[in-house]
Amino acid sequence: MTTEVAVQQAAEPAGMFETARNNLRIACEKLNIHPDVFEELQSPRETLAVTLLIRMDDGSRRAFKAWRCRYNDRRGPTKGGVRFHPNVSLDEIETLAFWMTFKCAVANLPFGGGKGGVCVDTKKLSATELERLSRAYIEAFSSFIGPDRDILAPDMYTNGIVIAWMSDEYASITGEPLPTAITGKPIAFGGTAGRTDATARGGYLALRHLESSLNLDPEKATVAIQGFGNVGYHCAKLLHADGYKIVAVSDSSGAIHDPDGLDPLAVMEHKHSNHGVTGAKGHGKTRKISNEELLELDCDVLVPAALERQITAENAGRIRAPIILEMANGPVSADADAILTEAGCVIIPDILANSGGVTVSHLEWVQNRSGFYWDGSRVRDHLKTTMATETQAVWALHTELNLSMREAAYVHGLRRIAESVEARGTQAYFEQ
Ligand code: NAD
Repeated sequence: MTTEVAVQQAAEPAGMFETARNNLRIACEKLNIHPDVFEELQSPRETLAVTLLIRMDDGSRRAFKAWRCRYNDRRGPTKGGVRFHPNVSLDEIETLAFWMTFKCAVANLPFGGGKGGVCVDTKKLSATELERLSRAYIEAFSSFIGPDRDILAPDMYTNGIVIAWMSDEYASITGEPLPTAITGKPIAFGGTAGRTDATARGGYLALRHLESSLNLDPEKATVAIQGFGNVGYHCAKLLHADGYKIVAVSDSSGAIHDPDGLDPLAVMEHKHSNHGVTGAKGHGKTRKISNEELLELDCDVLVPAALERQITAENAGRIRAPIILEMANGPVSADADAILTEAGCVIIPDILANSGGVTVSHLEWVQNRSGFYWDGSRVRDHLKTTMATETQAVWALHTELNLSMREAAYVHGLRRIAESVEARGTQAYFEQ
């Protein structure tokens, strides 16, 4: 059961969203974009805030704040995950929806950006309470979302079963047995082959594409990975298979470091039986370190694959890796970004590095609509071509216009979004 609290249009943002808006301002200046475009993109198109009321197992009722934001839909229906996390806020959801707008444009997908979330600690819910919450979210937003309007996907703590409950609820409400409005579905429920490791694979492909430009030798390069969940683990596995030495990984239990290298599969087996990576053994003397130490290790590539704002002005000066592959969304704050860029660190930005997930989600949407299903190799081939094309385009802007990789990615995405805004007419047209 749900109670609508407010329909907000362009709520006054602060914090993370200000940083995002600053990235937009810089990209608009670099491209000399028409002010109409900046005016449109600096605010979300619409955000719906609701309170979800669910019955707990003990018979009581509890309220949870929830949001869904459709940031911009000029290039197509909005697309973005739903996050269940105690720190979810309006500011975070609108920022993530802004990033999705640019990520979809960078990947050249026919989508705008959206995001949703519920302020909840899922570890404190039983499985039946979690199911009621997942279904309540869809009930609340059923008229806001849709296959041609706003498409949902998994995000933090919304795993396969949560997405299956959401898909099932949407199917009951709409009478559509296979909901195209939600991607990341289990394969038996219309999901696509190749989605599980798609985000990690996209980042891996971007890094491999840039190897010669970055003077990276896979046989010698060392990698530290923060966050050993879906993205961090698959990233470690793919890089390790190509010769990269994974010297450190971490999760919420702590971090481990082994200069002689770790085997990602063995670490994952240890994590499964011990609820964390700490205690896993590598090829040499494996020691436990803190999460802060992992970020500051002397390695060639640092991969933040856990949370936002892990590298800030406080620790940026101590980061020694010359290359950062941003697999999490927003792991480097704006002031840290300036410090690292000044120091010569190359940051492969989130809106490019982790765009593999939404690229394959687009293929799920296409397959659901056509009723024809691809095999894993076709999905991977498509992802490989997309990542190579867009990574090359961003790299070319980075070198030709002397932009950071982040600025280059924003400029690349903005060009495409601006074209779609301008195609509908700007002030210049009406002044003719
Ligand atoms: P996940 O929940 O599977 O894994 C997250 C991992 O981070 C877990 O191992 C957790 O223990 C660890 N972690 C949490 N706090 C930590 C800390 N302080 N230090 C070190 N590790 C910590 O999530 P995921 O799907 O792998 O996503 C990781 C990041 O990638 C998130 O920021 C997510 O938004 C982003 N992302 C994911 C996808 C996707 O398709 N899964 C797509 C785009 C972006």
